[in-house]
Amino acid sequence: CRGSVRGFCRSNGLLTLSVIAVITGCTLGFMLRGTQLSTQAKIYFSFPGELLMRMLKMLILPLITSSLMSGLSSMESKACCRMGVLTVTYYLWTTFIAVVVGIVLVLIIQPGSGTEMESNRLGGGPVMTSADALLDLIRNMVPSNLIEATFQQYKTDLIPILRVPTKAIQPNFVYVVPDDSDPKGRTVYLELTPPPDVIYKTSPGSSQQMNVLGIVIFSATMGLLLGRMGERGAPLVNVCQCINECVMKIINAAVWYFPFGIIFLVAGKILDMQDPSTLGKKLGWYGITVLTGLFVHGLILLPLFYFLLTKKNPFSYIRGLLQALVIALATSSSSATLPITMKCLLENCQVDRQIARFVLPVGATINMDGTALYEAVAAIFIAQVNDYELDFGQLVTISITATAASIGAAGIPQAGLVTMVIVLTSVGLPADDITLIVAIDWILDRFRTMINVLGDALAAGIIAHLCRKDFPLSETGKNPHSNSY
Ligand code: ASP
Repeated sequence: CRGSVRGFCRSNGLLTLSVIAVITGCTLGFMLRGTQLSTQAKIYFSFPGELLMRMLKMLILPLITSSLMSGLSSMESKACCRMGVLTVTYYLWTTFIAVVVGIVLVLIIQPGSGTEMESNRLGGGPVMTSADALLDLIRNMVPSNLIEATFQQYKTDLIPILRVPTKAIQPNFVYVVPDDSDPKGRTVYLELTPPPDVIYKTSPGSSQQMNVLGIVIFSATMGLLLGRMGERGAPLVNVCQCINECVMKIINAAVWYFPFGIIFLVAGKILDMQDPSTLGKKLGWYGITVLTGLFVHGLILLPLFYFLLTKKNPFSYIRGLLQALVIALATSSSSATLPITMKCLLENCQVDRQIARFVLPVGATINMDGTALYEAVAAIFIAQVNDYELDFGQLVTISITATAASIGAAGIPQAGLVTMVIVLTSVGLPADDITLIVAIDWILDRFRTMINVLGDALAAGIIAHLCRKDFPLSETGKNPHSNSY
């Protein structure tokens, strides 16, 4: 047995290094927590991790545009349509199942019931309604300016998402406060000393996030049209293919930096973590409920669907994805993990390149099973904490809005926390109570991102199998499209 473990480690050198990096990062982070590093020292310390995130983000735009445009342009309309319908149907179905799993578990475990839990609520209600959030989702599907879409995720200068108390401030988010002297009426919180009493949280990560959904829709449309243009469209298709090939080569070289970056990414996050002893029992049970749901969905149900639909061993397929899952755990971003997921599918799982090029970018944008499950659990947990009885109709509303909110969530750290406003307001729960779960959200985010990535990758394997007649050589790895990038 020891021999086979050694053999596995030797033939999966990079994966082994990445796992060691996660463990080293955790150990280093916990060791340094007692040392009271200054903010400046923390910034220097986190720098290698920041570089890793920047590298991954740098690759998202060229990868998505070139994959979708070249992938869809070379497909027949009928095959394309079939694959598109199957993909979207499968994504919606599995997301809905994930929500149901979450709802069943939270109703059984009841993590929020019992004595009153201290709420950080500020009062004043949510600043953003579900209608605003849904409009924002549709707005993002149709970017008015493509160049701007590569920078911007939400119209953060227009709508603050929710009010949070100063003590719930997290380093990953951009905070703004109302300010009359600012022409947009907002000032970035981090520039203000002393901190104001009331602040607004906007999009996580940075105010300058890519509108991936808009870019996916534009690139898919362009790809479909280029395919219909024949010879005239060929030069642009060739350019896209070259870009795609280059991006994959960059990924192959960059992966060797990842283990080093992961150590500092993980350790930096642990340094910023809130003291776990202050979290309380209910929050602990809430975390256990979410993790159990993710486990059931990701390691039992999704593999079962894979097995039933393809008659193949899901776990040997998942073995090929481990590298992507470790990156998802380290970065909390399914978009940032996309380049590695693509590499794993093409190199380890032999999924047809055309299918991977479509199913993965679309999945990283709209298919978030982990996020949907967590949103449903969190909403019901908040209802339980408030002693608020939900009837069957409200549970149905939660399942529909959690599915919609996960589609609207960007593949970036803690995006699900922001879109959860849709779920809470749909059943009349106080959106401010999101602050109850903020403290452990960063850790749950890592695990739900893993399930989001796993869901996309398993979907690619299933769609490849279901569309094997349209792509006859797709699963042998001998397809001329599959052998090289
Ligand atoms: N971090 C998740 C992802 O990138 C989204 C979320 O649930 O917050 O897939």
